[in-house]
Amino acid sequence: MVLIIDNLSFVNRFFALASLVIALSACAGSSSQVDAKNGQITVAASFYPIEEIVHRVGSSHVNVLDLTPAGQGAHDVQLTAKQLNALTHASAVFYLSDGFQPDVEKAVASLPHSVAAVDVLQSVSLLDVVAQLDGTEGTTDGEVLASGKDPHVWLDPANMIAMTTAVTDSLSQLHPEFESDFRQAAQSYIAELQTLGTEIDTKLSTCESPVLVTSHRAFAYLAKRANIRQVAIAGVNPDAEPSTKSLEAITAFAVTHKVSTIFFETLLPADLAKTLADKVGATADLLDPIEGISSEDLAAGASYVSIQRDNLTRLAKGLRCS
Ligand SMILES: [Zn+2]
Repeated sequence: MVLIIDNLSFVNRFFALASLVIALSACAGSSSQVDAKNGQITVAASFYPIEEIVHRVGSSHVNVLDLTPAGQGAHDVQLTAKQLNALTHASAVFYLSDGFQPDVEKAVASLPHSVAAVDVLQSVSLLDVVAQLDGTEGTTDGEVLASGKDPHVWLDPANMIAMTTAVTDSLSQLHPEFESDFRQAAQSYIAELQTLGTEIDTKLSTCESPVLVTSHRAFAYLAKRANIRQVAIAGVNPDAEPSTKSLEAITAFAVTHKVSTIFFETLLPADLAKTLADKVGATADLLDPIEGISSEDLAAGASYVSIQRDNLTRLAKGLRCS
């Protein structure tokens, strides 16, 4: 009997000691990740829309380490030694898995356990990549995940909301002392995203030609939400002579589906835009996939919501929605 009591108290003491060690190491972990000077938590985000989420939710409590600097493309970003070093001292890194940014994933795989790696792709459901228009030559500009799914989840505000919730939960778990601030900030950001979603649903509800013809097949999630069909075309690039075969295929499609606008990621040179208008009978317009943000847009105070509003205006005009 005595022996059993002794054993029990040993077990209790063992657990008490173990809890103390865990608590102490957790303290040591979080204090090393909070900047001593201004008390901010360093958190990394792998590219623009995610970075905006972390900024908005973390507000003054976080110092966001941008892994894709303004003006750079997200997909082929190469991390610098300085970024890699800063990443190892971060509290968390928010990223998209499944081969979207191979260099970021490689870095994430080698991080110490003190850095929480949060794959926000886990919070949304993925769509298949659409096939490009038959008869167009070359490949469309559009990344595909390793699983064959479409990575452009952020272009539906509903997915931005799901990812915002995932970021909020992770930050709150890591730094419960700021949880109420994180949740309050998230609520106001989510309200803005909900308003944007309602605007999309309203403005794109009735369109004469509900077909989004694009050279960058980034808009599947937005198209699905708005009940619009995304058609990916190849063979028309800002820096190359368009192929006759592609132009013929696009023309036939444009006539059949009453398409009057074709969307590109960058502004087409004037002569190419004219060729397109003459041969295909459609004008060219811009649509921003928000895979990054330009330094000019950032300096001008642009945000995910403002860029999406601009996209929405162009879409409503190009698809002749009322
Ligand atoms: Zn893309």
